[in-house]
Formats: sequence, C-alpha cells, structure tokens
Amino acid sequence: MGNPNINEQLTLPPSCGGVGGGRRVAFKTLGCRLNQYETDALVTDFDKAGYQLVNFDESPDVVVVNTCTVTNQSDQKSRTVISQAARKNKDAVVVVTGCMANNFKEKLESQDNITFVVENNRKSSVLSLVEAHFSGEILHPEQLPQDVFRYEPVQKSLHTRSAVKIQDGCDNFCTFCIIPMVRGRAVSRPVADVLESVRKTIENGFKEIVITGVNIGRYEDGETRFEDLLAKILDVPGDFRVRISSLEPDGFGDRFVELFQHPKLMPHLHLCLQSGSEKTLLRMRRMYDVGQFRKTINQFRLVDPDFNFTTDIIVGFPGETEEEFQQTIEAVKEFNFSHVHTFKYSVRKGTRAERLENHVPEKIKTARSLQIRELSEENKNLYYRSLIGKTQQVLVEKVSKNKATGYGDLYVPVEFQAKDIQKNTVHTVKLTGLSGEGERLVLVGELVEICV
Ligand code: SF4
Repeated sequence: MGNPNINEQLTLPPSCGGVGGGRRVAFKTLGCRLNQYETDALVTDFDKAGYQLVNFDESPDVVVVNTCTVTNQSDQKSRTVISQAARKNKDAVVVVTGCMANNFKEKLESQDNITFVVENNRKSSVLSLVEAHFSGEILHPEQLPQDVFRYEPVQKSLHTRSAVKIQDGCDNFCTFCIIPMVRGRAVSRPVADVLESVRKTIENGFKEIVITGVNIGRYEDGETRFEDLLAKILDVPGDFRVRISSLEPDGFGDRFVELFQHPKLMPHLHLCLQSGSEKTLLRMRRMYDVGQFRKTINQFRLVDPDFNFTTDIIVGFPGETEEEFQQTIEAVKEFNFSHVHTFKYSVRKGTRAERLENHVPEKIKTARSLQIRELSEENKNLYYRSLIGKTQQVLVEKVSKNKATGYGDLYVPVEFQAKDIQKNTVHTVKLTGLSGEGERLVLVGELVEICV
C-alpha cells in the first residue's frame, strides 16, 4: 500500500451512490457488541450500494475483517481470520479495520495480503474507500473523515436485534486495558442523533434495540446524562424493547434502577466486576469496590428478584494471590451471575499493568480460568432452573421445523414448539424445563399467547 498525501480529509455523504453493481462482499467480526454493531452498519451501507452479502468461501470481491485486540488471544484470532480471508480470496480487496488496525497499524500496513488498513475512527467510511478503489481513484484511508458516529441506522443485519451506538472511547484508563488507546477518549453522540437513530431502527423493523458504546454509563451531552438519555429513548413511540449492553458498575444512581420499571427496558445487565478482591480492583484501578458493587446488585434484585446479571472476570491479573482469587470465586457465587465471560490476563503493551510486578504463570491462569468457567456453568444451571414455571416474552430469532427459538426479557435462551410462528415476533411463553447442556443449555417452554 502506497502512502499518498494524507493531509487532506474528504467530506463524504453518509453513503455514496454505489458502484456495487452485483459485487460480492463478505464480513467477519471479532470482539465486542460495539464492533458487531459497526459491522451491521457497514453491511447496511454495502447492501444499499448494491453489493451482495456472501460468506468468505463464496468468492467475495471485498472482504472486511473487523478485528479485536483486547487480549493476546483476540490478536491471534484476528490474525488467523485475516490470513484465511486473504488466502481464500487472492483477488479480493481485503480491508482490515477495528481495534487491531489501531494497535498494530504499521505492521498490518506492511502486509502484502491486506489492501487497506482502516482505523476505528474512520471505519464508518469503508464503503467510500472500496467504491473509490473500484472506480480507479487513489484514496488513502487517512483521507477518510474521522467520525465515530457517522454510521447509518442498521437496516440489513444478520441479527434480530440492532444496536444503537451512543458513545465511544473511555477516560477511565484501567491499568490492564488497551481500549482508551485504540478507541480514544470518551465522546458522546448528540441526543438528537441518538433519538433519530432509534426511530429509524424501529422503522426498519427491529423490535429490540441494544444501547451500546465503550463506557455508556459516562454518556454526557450538555445536561443530558446516561439515565436522562435512556428515559428519552424509552419515550420514543413504537413497539420495541430496549437492552443495555455492557456497563461499568459506576457512574449511575437510583434513577437508573427506577427506569427498569418501564415495560420497554429489559431486566438484564452485563455489569463488569473483573475481580472480587478489593486489592486486585485497586491494582486494576477500577472506580468501585466490592461493597459498592454489592449495593448495586441488591438494589436491582429488590425491585426484581429474577433480574439477570452477567459479568466479565479477569483471572491472573499481576499479583493475584490464591486468596484474592478465592475472593473472586466467592463474589461470583454471591452475585449469582448467570454467565461469566472469563479472560486470562494478558499483557497489553503500553498499559500500566505491563509494568506491575508478580505476573502470574500461564499454568495458574489457565487453572483459575477453568474454575470460573465451571462455576459459571453451575450458576447458569441454577438460575435457569429457578425460572421454570415462570413466563417470558420471547423475541423469536429462528424458526425451524415448527420449533421457535429466541431470547426472553431476562436475556435467557428459550425454545418452544409452535406452528406458523414468524421470526422477529414476540410471544408469551411459559417455561417448563431445560434442554441441552453447557453452552447449549436452553429453557424449554409452551406458547401461552401470540403477542405481536
Ligand atoms: S472502563 Fe476500564 S476496562 Fe472499560 S474500556 Fe474503560 S479503561 Fe477499559
């Protein structure tokens, strides 16, 4: 890839009138919900411009890999996907974007099998870059506008729910985290833009929207804070429900809890604990302690005893003793998370944790990770069992052989037998039992009422 004059930034319309004309595009996304949303928005852009969405092995003309760099493992997965994509599609335009494109920019730019490396803040203009390429124009990614909120509302998606991005970046600088370096400082999308995006997403037929960003609890647009914005979103007319994606356990107050009494706001939160040890949390430079976390959980469960909490835990953070790890085990039991997303700590270059002492041997990290995963499975089983006999409003995501599957209000997977049920419809289902195990454990139910 050459490096032409990059001083000039182009101002592009949200979606250029396409030269797609039957060209084929394939996408691969790694990492978080925010990345998934950004891919969905790009899918919508390419679809509108006349491209056909295909899989990697269906000879695409364009391959977009939206990478993640949160751990060493994510880097490794991203690298594998990039080389597979390039190897399988030697004549395709290969675009690499996402957090790895920021973290390893020069290295990726030096690879012959990648056509364009596009940083996160220019990702929303990938279509313009590809169209320029096919039109024979020379356009360097750094000439694309920097705008993290330029994404069009999702229209075509591989999913039943659509995210709406309200915020990007983070100012917290937890000692282990690379995100502030690859996503930048915290920025919030203007209220009017968010509400417009919510309206359009509903008009596009989505029945569930997921409020997303890097640290959404820190949303701030003038006087409007996260809770105020959420209240405005819930007031948007229409037949839809709202979920919150991952949330840091600080920065919100009592009003946030009260908002969950609104019928459109679903009773599930992915609240990132990271560790159950006060000492580890201090070394991580998290903004809360275990006591505050407990208070938050209890507030929600007082309003709704079935409220579903999931979390992230990092095991083997530098200096994590056996005693500190046991405190995490106790916390996972006490808070009864129905799912724990477990990460083995891995060094991210340039973070403060890189310089901490007493790094934990890999063998111990692996053993601790396994313990948390087993505990997570036990918790899930207990939680799902406790829901048998209750009802859920299930948004159907898949229908096959008269069997419908989807997620209930509590964000639990539910399957039920039903004839003539359509995808993207909501139904009242009485939970009667469990099926499958491990990752495939689902609640089984009986259709009570067809709602919408
Ligand atoms: S809150 Fe901490 S862990 Fe989360 S993105 Fe910000 S710096 Fe990273």
